[in-house]
Amino acid sequence: MRKSVIALIILSLLLTLCGCGVLPSASEKTSGQPTEDGVHIVTSFYPIYIMLLNITADIDGVTVSNLTRNETGCLHDYQLSPGDMQKLQGADLLVINGAGMEAFMDKIIAQYPHIPVVEATQGLDLIVHEGEINPHLWVSPEGAKQEVENIVRQLTALDPQHSDAYARNGLAYVEKISQLQAEMHQLLDNAPKRNIATFHDAFAYFAREFDLQVVAVVEREPGSEPSAGELAQIITQIKNKKVAAVFAEPQYPEAVAQTIARESGVAVYALEPAVSGPEDKDAYLRIMRQNLEVLREALY
Ligand SMILES: [Zn+2]
Repeated sequence: MRKSVIALIILSLLLTLCGCGVLPSASEKTSGQPTEDGVHIVTSFYPIYIMLLNITADIDGVTVSNLTRNETGCLHDYQLSPGDMQKLQGADLLVINGAGMEAFMDKIIAQYPHIPVVEATQGLDLIVHEGEINPHLWVSPEGAKQEVENIVRQLTALDPQHSDAYARNGLAYVEKISQLQAEMHQLLDNAPKRNIATFHDAFAYFAREFDLQVVAVVEREPGSEPSAGELAQIITQIKNKKVAAVFAEPQYPEAVAQTIARESGVAVYALEPAVSGPEDKDAYLRIMRQNLEVLREALY
């Protein structure tokens, strides 16, 4: 009797020492706690990915990858492919924009309930239009700064081991955005023309920050082109409200923009909402400076 108890103790000790099923391997990771192969962060789409490239820059043991392709654009109605879903295997943390941008979150939570989710727009002052939250906060520099600070705050709580580095990098990036923001206000605060028309509602926060009036939105989201009647109505609005410029986005077909320009006599310019672009830490800053050059031409 006594002998068999000792044998059992020895057996259980051996099992513990050999580590069978004790240490999680990379494919078995189940929590946001750092494991031996470091912390792997997955982002939902391009603008958040660029923020994380900055927040995690030069931190040993922290890697970032993007769930969707850098050219995907906005995620409204985006369906995750099985390949996208696979990218979440081995993820310790998922960072999303939130505010309804990632309509596929139910699917992720069902399949990967253990992955903690950081929501960049959580608790921020968001624009609601016709009952729907506008998720495009990062298009305004002020909004981008708020999202970066929000991400840093939540990352720090979930991964305390790297909290100092996240905070330092976050602060450095916020300072860069502040510098850009000051340049933009210097030009736009005194722009004589302030009535604009845009394609889809990506520029609502941008307009709020720079006090521009979006008097017509041509096409809400990809795939919902205006009918002939709606188009005629928009053209009338553009004429009546003395719109200075129509801003199209490069992601959208040009035909509608050209019809509007021809019918209304108002110039059409391309403005980037920074939803896609190169894989580069400074891409957002560069895209916004290009936008500033377009606005200099359009609003003066
Ligand atoms: Zn959008």
